[in-house]
Parts: sequence; C-alpha cells; structure tokens
Amino acid sequence: MQLQKQGLPFSEIALGGKLKIILALIYYLVDQKNMCSRLFLLFLFLLPVTQSFSQTYITDDTVSDVDNQKLIPHQTVIIIGDLISKIQRADKVSIPANAIVVAGAGKYLFPGLTDAHVHFSQTGGLYTRPDAINLQEFKPYPEEIKWSHEHMEEVLRRYLKAGITTVIDVGTTVNFLKQREEFKNATYSPTIYMAGPLLTTYEPNVFKSLKDDSPFNLVTSVEDANKAIAQQLVYHPDLLKIWYIVGQDTSDIEASARNYLPIIKAIIDEAHRNDLKMAIHATKLITAQLSVENGCDYLVHSIDDEIMPDDFVKLLKKKKTILCPTRVVHDGYGNTFGQNLNMTVHDLRTGDPFQLGSLMDLKHIADTVLVKKYMTHSNKPETQASSKKVDDIMRINLKKLSDGGVIIATGTDAGNIGTLHASSYLAEIKAMQESGMTNWQILQASTVNGAKVLDKEKEFGTISEGKKANLILLDANPIENLDNITKIYRVINKGMIIDPDTLVRETPEALVQRQLNAYNFRNIEAFLETYADDVEVYKDKDKLLYNGKEELRKIYTELFDNSPSLHCEILNRIVQGNVVIDKERVQFAKGRVIEGVAMYQVEEGRIKRVYFVQ
Ligand SMILES: [Zn+2]
Repeated sequence: MQLQKQGLPFSEIALGGKLKIILALIYYLVDQKNMCSRLFLLFLFLLPVTQSFSQTYITDDTVSDVDNQKLIPHQTVIIIGDLISKIQRADKVSIPANAIVVAGAGKYLFPGLTDAHVHFSQTGGLYTRPDAINLQEFKPYPEEIKWSHEHMEEVLRRYLKAGITTVIDVGTTVNFLKQREEFKNATYSPTIYMAGPLLTTYEPNVFKSLKDDSPFNLVTSVEDANKAIAQQLVYHPDLLKIWYIVGQDTSDIEASARNYLPIIKAIIDEAHRNDLKMAIHATKLITAQLSVENGCDYLVHSIDDEIMPDDFVKLLKKKKTILCPTRVVHDGYGNTFGQNLNMTVHDLRTGDPFQLGSLMDLKHIADTVLVKKYMTHSNKPETQASSKKVDDIMRINLKKLSDGGVIIATGTDAGNIGTLHASSYLAEIKAMQESGMTNWQILQASTVNGAKVLDKEKEFGTISEGKKANLILLDANPIENLDNITKIYRVINKGMIIDPDTLVRETPEALVQRQLNAYNFRNIEAFLETYADDVEVYKDKDKLLYNGKEELRKIYTELFDNSPSLHCEILNRIVQGNVVIDKERVQFAKGRVIEGVAMYQVEEGRIKRVYFVQ
C-alpha cells in the first residue's frame, strides 16, 4: 500500500484516449503470430491501464453534503477511475493492499468549485478591453489575444490550484472554442464548458474585423440570428449567450429592450431547439424580465438598476432560472481606472503577476491626458456615488434572491479589467457573504448550483456515489470561515490526486514581478513572501545594505507606510537563468524620482540576493 500517490500534473495520461489505445492494441495483438509475445504484450499494455484505474481511498475525513448543508465526520471516500465509487464510515472500510491512500483525518472534503462566469478571451489586465479603454498605442490588441491563447494552459492550472474544477466561459471566440479541445482530458485542467461568441445587437467597433478572434457575433435580424447560431454550432458550444445591451437605438430603455425582443426570442427558441441552455447578459430589470419570460435559463449578472420586485423573484424561482451575481467585476473597472485598487496577499500570491502588474500601468503611461480623463471621471463624487448605488442594489437583490429560493451560481466574470482569473474567486464569494448569504448557501452556489447551469447536477457538484471525483480536500472548515476555501491540501480532479503546489511553476521572472506588484501595492506581507529568510541586499557589488527578512520588514514597512505615491516602473528587463535584471524608475514622493538597476538572484523559489546599482 502506498501512503499517497501524487498526481502527475505535468505528464498526464489522457483518460478518454484509453479506450482508443486499448482497441488499437487488440488489433495489434491479434496480428502477432507468436502466442508468447501476444501474452507478454497484453501484460505490458494492461499494466498502466489497471494502475490508472486503481482505487483511491480518502480516509477518515469530514465529508460535506452541500445539498443538505451538513458535515459528516469520519467518512472514507473511495474513488475508482474518475468517479466516486463509495462513501462509507471510516471504521467499516478495509483498504486493499494496492490502493492509493490519502490520509484525510482532520480534513474537510468538498466538491470541487465551479466558476460559472469567466472569459478566456480576456486576461484580467489593463489592455484586455480596448472598447472600455483604448491603450492600443501601448499594447496592440492582437498581442493581448496572442497572450490569452499562449497562456490558456497556465490560466487553467491557476484555476485548478484554486480548487476550481469546473469553469463556464459564457462568451468566447471561435478560436478559443477550438483551443479548449486540447485540454479535454488533461488532469491539470478544470472541466471547461463554453458558450460561443456573444450574440449581440450591438458590437463595439474595435472587435468588428477580428473574425474568429471576436467575442461578438452581431445579429440585427431573426435571419442573422439563425445564421450566426448555425455557424457557432459547428464548434460545439455547450450553451449560447446573448449580450442584451439596450439604449443604443433610443434612450428609452424599455422601448429599446422591446425593439430587440423578437431577435432575443428567436435566439432563445433556436438554442432550445438545439438542446442548448440560453445564457443572457441582462443587467436591467426590464431586459432581465423579458429574457426570463421568454425562456432564458441563466442570467449571468445581477440586476443593477432597480431593486427586484417580489413577483420577479418568484418568477425566477418558478422557472428555475439561475442567476450569477458577479458582484466584484464592476468595481474592478472603476478601481483600476481610478487607481484605487486594493490587492490582498491572496490576490498578489495567486493572480497572474504580469496581468496584475499591468493594472498599475496607468500610473506611468505616457498619454497623461487619457489617463487623467479616466482617473478624474472615476474619482468624481457623482461617479463614486453611482457606483455605490449600483453595488447597494446588487447586494440587496442578491439577498432577496437567496432568501426567495432562487438558484444562485457563483461566477466572477474573470478576464475583465481588474478581475483576474482564479484569484478573484475569493473576493467574489466574500462579496456574496457580505450580501447576507450564509457560508453554506455560498458553498452550494459554488458547487452543485454551478452544475445546475448545465443540467449536470447528476454528474458533478456534490460528493455522492457515481458522481465525478472532482473534489477539494481542505485543511480547515470553510463553513466556519470562508477564507479556509484557500487552505487546499489536495485537489482531486478527474479522479487524480494533485498537490496544488505542483500545478503552477513560478519562473524567476514571475517571482520578481510578484515582488514588484507587492511593492507597488505597498503590501508588506506579500512583498516579504517573495524573499528568502536570509536575503542579502547590496548596494553596488559589495556594500551590504540589509541582511535577513526581518531587517527588510523594518525598512520596507516604513517606506510603504510613508510613501502613498510610491510606484516603480520597469523600463527594461533582462532574464538570464535565475537572474533577473530590472532597469527601474521609482517615484517615491511627488516629484522625487530615482532611476537605477536592480539585479535579483533567485534561489529555491525565493529572492536570495539583490544588488542595486545607481
Ligand atoms: Zn461576462
């Protein structure tokens, strides 16, 4: 018996491919003339197959029953292949000698989380929505698209590391629908569901010529709608999505909503004819109401213009329409544009460091006129007041919905400016908590209700016999404290036991960038996390400035506390092996700017030495 076999996150075996391999082998074996070689080959081939389907026992843990909001202690969960085979009282189970065992005593087993609203075509960084802020002069949008594709695997790994075993992309591009096929059987990847490009009556100019890279599909008539859907179906989306934006044709919102209704209704009907769920972006009460009355299955945002009438809450419950509140995405934009972002240690530790860092670029971008316009607008008392009003309405509506028994699914809208993939999940569930939902309600919204979006609650979302073994084994109880959802001991994905720390490899450059982000956000704990305990900081080659983390803590706490406008811009960066050399321009107080070079030497995943040259 092995005490614990780790998953192989960097060299997966494709589970679905196994059947094909076995069939190919049978043909090959029949071809072999010699009986001995047939038997030997059969033995060789079946060995890995039986191994990968061996039984895993997660012993004596506390199992969550999210449907009934109960914790059941001393349970052993048996996994065969990618399914939960049995759940039994720990003292009733005898463990076979060849089983994989994960010691679960003192730990909490929850279903893997679902983020029911993400966009892989967006990075979460500053340059990802040129229709919201056009900075193409500094970073052309095609570069951003390229980045998203090249980093999709890493983004998926970040999701899994955060315990998110299912993601629903509610509006992507044809090229992402194609790319997701690569990750279907990868055990480092959450299960991905995707809607096609957003069917919309309004398309921002900047996306118009992007073809298969556009997340929008303009439809201006019922015929257009049917044609667009037929085109999307070729790429097998799991659901369809409408961007129900009103007020472009007339300032009378209700008249505008009703003008577009025949197209909206035609799309919903066509989705249902094709057995697909219909997700709709409808943030106004009138658009949401018309959507639901006409068969929308999934509202992907809160209603933010009015407090919902009780009748509408009842209608959602009766029709089993699911709603995803996306509480934090709105502020992500406002706080980035106004440069009022607040990043926690969790954000700085787990978000993509380069996209996170880009959110601070407004502090040094050369187009100061544009920056000032955004900054002034975002910080105007009227703008702040209207943001607060929107937030208050969303908060009150969410409480009404959860009290009224409407199915809520957790989703971040990650990928939008200021809402980073994977790391923003914690902020989202905390905002749900702040709206008055209980931790159990939030955990339901984050697990089984995510499965309900696609009618897949019989497949995953709870810890039940026969369901997918997509689970998280936590070191502490998230029902007591929501933060404990980040204390992940193991992720179980597609039946594989994975140590979350093995999922994302941090390069020396990424580590230095993480350190820079913490510096710019003046977050001392996140900053120190990137340094070795015995770090040495030199001026020039040999003059030792500081020695050890505690000395660093003293110096930098004082600097962070006394420099509200502190900002470091990287003018140039060279990476060679474990050495990162940054040419930096640092603004300390208003007007006081210093340029210099910092050379970072990384050892064992931490910054071991720094040399400053001025
Ligand atoms: Zn969205």
